[in-house]
Amino acid sequence: MGLSSYRCESCERRVKEPLQKSILGRNVCAECVRATLLGAGVTVISGDPGAGAGVWSMLMRKLRRGGRA
Ligand SMILES: [Zn+2]
Repeated sequence: MGLSSYRCESCERRVKEPLQKSILGRNVCAECVRATLLGAGVTVISGDPGAGAGVWSMLMRKLRRGGRA
């Protein structure tokens, strides 16, 4: 029984606050959401150099589609 803790799918830490959905569709802690948004953080956490760039280009595409410029 996990009491009221959640396991982050990204950094695998147990956190007390509810997880959030990252743009990758994973349930991650608030810190990882921020790291994901920063793009570079993903590289550090997952150890996958491609992940950061992938997230970043995905983000940029999203932003462009948002019609904010
Ligand atoms: Zn995390």
